[in-house]
Amino acid sequence: MINYHIHTNVSIDASGTMEDYCKVAAEQGFKYICFTNHMEIDDIAVGILDYVQSNETLEKTHNDVLRLRDEYDLDIGFGVELGYTEKYEDEIRDFSKKWPFDFVLGTVHKVFGHEVSDYGPAQKTFSKYGLETVYKEYFRVLKNAINSGIFDSIGHFDVVRKYSAPVDFSVYGKDAIECVKSIAKQGIALEANTNGFIWVGDNFPSENIFKSAFDMGIRKLTIGSDCHEPKFFDLGLDRGFRVLKLVGFKQVCVFKDRKARFVDIP
Ligand SMILES: [Zn+2]
Ligand SMILES: [Zn+2]
Repeated sequence: MINYHIHTNVSIDASGTMEDYCKVAAEQGFKYICFTNHMEIDDIAVGILDYVQSNETLEKTHNDVLRLRDEYDLDIGFGVELGYTEKYEDEIRDFSKKWPFDFVLGTVHKVFGHEVSDYGPAQKTFSKYGLETVYKEYFRVLKNAINSGIFDSIGHFDVVRKYSAPVDFSVYGKDAIECVKSIAKQGIALEANTNGFIWVGDNFPSENIFKSAFDMGIRKLTIGSDCHEPKFFDLGLDRGFRVLKLVGFKQVCVFKDRKARFVDIP
């Protein structure tokens, strides 16, 4: 089994040490895991501890990964969930190269400068701009994130659905499909984020996006539960794999030194 999206107590909104997660992963028979704590480089994130990692934290995480690889029969990745903003694209790219990451997961959390993955700011943003405009802007920024060439995989592809009132696919489908095309063109991976099952009863992204991706020839996928506590470590992963298999995928990717390797879906 595989979980390539894990947050540890480095984030103030998450609990559990890397070791706690390794114990759970080993107990549950997982083979591949990757730690992907947040890093946001922008005006809003400065000073918000859960989204910014200091050099000391990154160094410690890296050293812990090296140590835990010796202690556990697990293939452990040193990763990061790196937030994308257009304004700081150069700084974000520099950061991605500065550390010896195995895996850089790219995500977009902000639309018009406000979080869409946090309940309060999301509600304010939706009521200020309207659902359609927020979706349009989200996918516009996401497309730039994909085309930036910074990331190995695109995380929670349609997370804008998380706190949104239901929006018909016809409203944003064209923009979303354009993003899938960009992923195909860039040759990067698309994440199945099983945290979506809690919020929208489906992966982020929805099954039809995976179907489009499959039809376009995309075979690079990553999968993760986006867990913030060890007790939720494997949340939704069985369902996530089931959806991928139904669509026709047979493998997902794991990463070492930013290079993808395919492993069979269990
Ligand atoms: Zn995220
Ligand atoms: Zn995450």
